[in-house]
Amino acid sequence: MLAPYQIKKDFPILQQPHPSGKPLIYLDSAATTQKPQEVIDTMHHYYEKSNANVHRGIHHLGNRATLTYESTRAKVQTFINAHVSRDIIFTKGTTESVNLVAYGFAAKRLQPGDEIIISAMEHHSNLIPWQMLCKRHQAHLRVIPMQEDGQLDLSQLKQMLNPKTKMLAVVHISNSLGTINPVEEIIEMAHAADVPVLVDAAQSAAYYDIDVQQMDCDFLVFSGHKVFGPTGIGVLYGKEKWLEEMDPWQFGGEMIRSVTFEETTFAEIPQKFEAGTPNIAGAAGLAAAIRYIENIGKADMQQHLQDLLQYATEQLLSINGLHIYGNAPKKSAIISFMLDFAHAHDTATILDSSGIAVRAGHHCTQPVMDFYGIPATARASFSIYNTREDIDVLAEAVENVRMIFVGTL
Ligand code: PMP
Repeated sequence: MLAPYQIKKDFPILQQPHPSGKPLIYLDSAATTQKPQEVIDTMHHYYEKSNANVHRGIHHLGNRATLTYESTRAKVQTFINAHVSRDIIFTKGTTESVNLVAYGFAAKRLQPGDEIIISAMEHHSNLIPWQMLCKRHQAHLRVIPMQEDGQLDLSQLKQMLNPKTKMLAVVHISNSLGTINPVEEIIEMAHAADVPVLVDAAQSAAYYDIDVQQMDCDFLVFSGHKVFGPTGIGVLYGKEKWLEEMDPWQFGGEMIRSVTFEETTFAEIPQKFEAGTPNIAGAAGLAAAIRYIENIGKADMQQHLQDLLQYATEQLLSINGLHIYGNAPKKSAIISFMLDFAHAHDTATILDSSGIAVRAGHHCTQPVMDFYGIPATARASFSIYNTREDIDVLAEAVENVRMIFVGTL
């Protein structure tokens, strides 16, 4: 069993009060998770004791920095059960990872009239790169439709896949609806049609077991800052055969074998995709974040999140005029809601005055808002440091919003 009160103590930022003097209740972990002390300390320690550039230092510090960076690659390999560590590319985040696959891999395969499939609930980061690529190559972007409850309608996918389909990209857990998509089933269907699949694991990597070999995805992407690690570092996993085929997208130092004024040859994977000085301190922090996750255990994390999801859903639904968007049977602890009587931004502003951080807006999923015909939702997203008590405070504060707008409880 996970002990959230104990875990909360690991996160220094959560120890400070809100400027209103009320306790700070952070319910915006889908945007970014907070960082435990050991991640902060590890990064601090790196700059204090090990800072140097990687891969070229003969000297002591250079070797330590290289060890820090490369041992994180090995850590990520085991975190997602990749076959070998060179299948792991460091990027600055999910967005950059998707763009790298779009321009380094998919672009080479795309002819006019070809198709790329995404889903109706993609984050803009896993939508716009494919849309831009399709425009550039006169290809078509096709969308797996969504049902009212926030599940994908996979009955359509079989007909959508055809010899013109060159890529499928799908989100594992929707950041605006919480839906957990059956990615293994999607991958199996796509592979039956010879279509490679990219999985956006930005919302799942922290809490759900990711086994890229079992999942059999061709690419998988996530960001350090959503797995209790730092901003500015992310991961692209790719099957080795695809990474070998993929072109680099950025050019410069670190990624070459030899250079003349006439010709350049590139380094092997993964270096071929990591031009310039990488985020070494970020890698140190990411390794610490993965250690932190491993020490707690994903099974306990999931159990806790499911408990919070169930409790928060009950509490919020007992409020008159509150609607939840995204009611898939398999859902993570992300609740998008709207009040009949208040705009989502007003709701979030009033909640903030009670010390509660929720996000309001389209959550970088405008097509999802269009699907429901709404401009925005308020979104409460929970993590391992949240408690049932946080949810009681949230429910009370939402009742207060009702009081302000409607005048009665
Ligand atoms: N995909 C999903 C599902 C996300 O939740 C996010 C971040 N909100 C992203 C992609 C983009 O991640 P980043 O901004 O770290 O690149």
